[in-house]
Amino acid sequence: MNYDVVIIGGGPSGLTAGIYASRAGLSVAIVEMRFAGGQITSAENVENYPSFNQISGVDLAMKMLEQAESCGAVMIYDKVAATDFSNDDKVITLASGSKLNCRAVILAMGAEARKIGLDNEDKFIGRGVSYCALCDGALYKGKRVIVVGGGNTAIGDAVYINKFASKVYLVHRREEFRATKVELDRLHNSTIEVITDSVISVIHGDKMVEGVSIKNVKNDEIKKIDLDGIFVAIGQVPQSQDIGKDVLRDKSGYVVGSEDCTTNISGVFVAGDVRTKHVRQVVTATSDGAVAAEMAVLHLS
Ligand SMILES: Cc1cc2nc3c(=O)[nH]c(=O)nc-3n(C[C@H](O)[C@H](O)[C@H](O)COP(=O)(O)OP(=O)(O)OC[C@H]3O[C@@H](n4cnc5c(N)ncnc54)[C@H](O)[C@@H]3O)c2cc1C
Repeated sequence: MNYDVVIIGGGPSGLTAGIYASRAGLSVAIVEMRFAGGQITSAENVENYPSFNQISGVDLAMKMLEQAESCGAVMIYDKVAATDFSNDDKVITLASGSKLNCRAVILAMGAEARKIGLDNEDKFIGRGVSYCALCDGALYKGKRVIVVGGGNTAIGDAVYINKFASKVYLVHRREEFRATKVELDRLHNSTIEVITDSVISVIHGDKMVEGVSIKNVKNDEIKKIDLDGIFVAIGQVPQSQDIGKDVLRDKSGYVVGSEDCTTNISGVFVAGDVRTKHVRQVVTATSDGAVAAEMAVLHLS
């Protein structure tokens, strides 16, 4: 099939790119390997996307999908398995074996939070387990929370949540934190209780998180803590593994792209969480989607 633009990923950035590119009169396909909406569909409540005081992640995603389709974007539910961006005519191979040809591509594959890896972790996502302090921190006003991680993000998250929560623990598997002096000073000047050389070994709870067991990795000692929330800050994994090696990534795998969403390859643009940037939120993903689509329009004209 031939399209003017193929967008890889049907999360907020891909759907927004679909809205803009379709409204500009281009033929657009959005390839999504799971379900439209991306990561935000895991959020029980979104309270920081302008125009909705509160909306469920699924409802927000469905509104974006509806709008993209009503503008003319075609959803293709399949996985992009390989790409060939070596010519002006770009070729995208899907896991089903079909091929899509287009003249511009928008990479919008997003990122996934790195998980702790506990058996019941998935069950508690949105029910006490969160991977985004900026998104969910304010929901824990007056509650007890543990943050997992040992880098700048984990410390920043713990300090941020400590503004709302009644008690914040920070658990790290090593003795030393891998953070800047500024972050460490903020941590040491706070009321956050630091637990080093330890990992969460069990999440307790029925429908919602009620507590965790913490295991000391040096002496195997276990202690139980009653809690309402677990914030995991052990990194993100950009979903850039399915595209060709010729697209430039940074050392973590994020596609290198500036504010204009261009990449190192002419006609290939990048939008949303998979792009190198600091703030990964719905509002920044949708913003990228608009910019990438407009840049694709410019490229095609
Ligand atoms: C639990 C949770 C709560 C959050 N809460 C908030 C919040 O309250 N407010 C806020 O602003 N942000 C929140 N976020 C962050 C927000 O969801 C992301 O910043 C946003 O979804 C990024 O959009 P995106 O389109 O760039 O990527 P994604 O949402 O990650 O979408 C990328 C899509 O690409 C698809 N894809 C990947 N690879 C392929 C492939 N090879 N072929 C086909 N499809 C592919 C994926 O299946 C996915 O659907 C939250 C995130 C999580 C996980």
